Amino acid sequence: MPDLIKTALITGGSRGIGRACAIRLAKSGYQVFVTYVSRPEPAFETCKIIEEAGGQASSFALDIGDHQAIVDFFKEKIKDRVFLSVLVNNAGSTMDGLLVRMGQEQWEKVLRVNLSGSFFCLQQAAKIMMRQKTGRIINITSVTAQSGNPGQANYTAAKAGLMGLTRTAALELAPRNITVNAVAPGFIETDMTAALNQEVRERYLEMIPLKRFGYPEDVAESVAFLASPGGAYITGQILGVNGGMYM
Ligand code: NAP
Repeated sequence: MPDLIKTALITGGSRGIGRACAIRLAKSGYQVFVTYVSRPEPAFETCKIIEEAGGQASSFALDIGDHQAIVDFFKEKIKDRVFLSVLVNNAGSTMDGLLVRMGQEQWEKVLRVNLSGSFFCLQQAAKIMMRQKTGRIINITSVTAQSGNPGQANYTAAKAGLMGLTRTAALELAPRNITVNAVAPGFIETDMTAALNQEVRERYLEMIPLKRFGYPEDVAESVAFLASPGGAYITGQILGVNGGMYM
């Protein structure tokens, strides 16, 4: 498929870590597609930043908690329209609470978005990349999946599931020349962590050997490496980007 434009799809690429990945992958020369769920403005802003730097970017609304929406999106926007070089499964959300008080929807929604949504995007991307005979898939998980985190039973279970999915998908897709890896960020300065109070932030900071929180760009550099020619022989790996923190 030589005529199609090499494209990197970043779910939740409108802000935070996803935005940094989009900007960085655009610098690597990919056309980037960023998705959001409910807030179009940050997505437009991400595309504007990329276009002003000479890159190509488009944004799309896509709720990854909706299986049919994922199927439709890949059919209408990706398949036979672009060369899908990279999928960054970045979209994620939290609904924290202690496990004894966690409601069914609170549990299921976080699993649906962070784990099932990432799986269905990976599944759709894999079908396309198998026909292309090449592709890179990078799942964004979390250090908390390795350490556990009080108040995040749903989120840590979903992100740990994503690690198992990464390893299995890597084994299944390696014969098709598709690599699948995960990046596990520690505490990164984004809207997701901005909600934490000062006391919690200081507690986390004490646990980070490099003595600073991470920036979205720190994560984006690792993602860009895994997508680059230098990452060609790496698959099934979980790369921690956490300042040395394992809580
Ligand atoms: P963020 O700033 O809260 O941005 C989340 C992005 O995901 C937004 O683009 C949001 O779209 C989108 N999104 C949320 N729910 C979605 C859904 N149901 N369907 C599609 N898109 C959805 O998050 P972030 O901090 O950059 O985190 C990005 C990823 O890194 C997540 O998977 C997160 O779990 C992981 N992570 C973050 C940290 C951290 O310290 N920040 C640490 C470890 C792992 P809207 O703008 O429309 O809401």
